[in-house]
Amino acid sequence: MMRRFVICLTVVSAVLGVTKAADPAFKKVSKTVSLGKYTPKGIVKFNGVSVSKRIIPDLEKLIAAAKKDRLTLKVKSGYRSYDYQVKTFNSWTENERKKNPKLTRKEAEGIANTYSARPGHSEHQLGTTVDVLSSENGFQFSSDPKLKYIAWLEKNAPKYNFTISYPRDSKEYVYEPWHLRWYPPKKIVALAKS
Ligand SMILES: [Zn+2]
Repeated sequence: MMRRFVICLTVVSAVLGVTKAADPAFKKVSKTVSLGKYTPKGIVKFNGVSVSKRIIPDLEKLIAAAKKDRLTLKVKSGYRSYDYQVKTFNSWTENERKKNPKLTRKEAEGIANTYSARPGHSEHQLGTTVDVLSSENGFQFSSDPKLKYIAWLEKNAPKYNFTISYPRDSKEYVYEPWHLRWYPPKKIVALAKS
């Protein structure tokens, strides 16, 4: 009797473990919501870039599907730790102050924050977010609407559970068509709830 109870509890907690609320892949991150010093589990290398191993099957499918449509995509950036973000944000802020020495530190941070997240506020800290670039412009960051891969990603990324977090009308950051966040497929969440 006791054993059955223990097994039952294990099953319930296993199911609950992958529900939307508990799954870190659903964590909200924004300019006002911080992840703090959160460190995800299961970070591995994918073609030299650190990412959560959970996203690799869908990432491989996305890249293969693009290839069929004659587009060569490459993951340029993935997981970024809290400490890495501190360095990056400081360097963007310094860059703004070099461009305009009259800016106060706070003003320079404000400008940097239109295109770069403050430490703890980047979706890249989740490990499930990647920047994907294309060979058609030498793998450069660009939101030029003439780039074929941008339209391709807008249409096809959702098929592989990726969302463009900062679309054309984003109020959070400037348009970043290359920035894709992966969410666990709905069927997994539905299964966990049933
Ligand atoms: Zn990004």
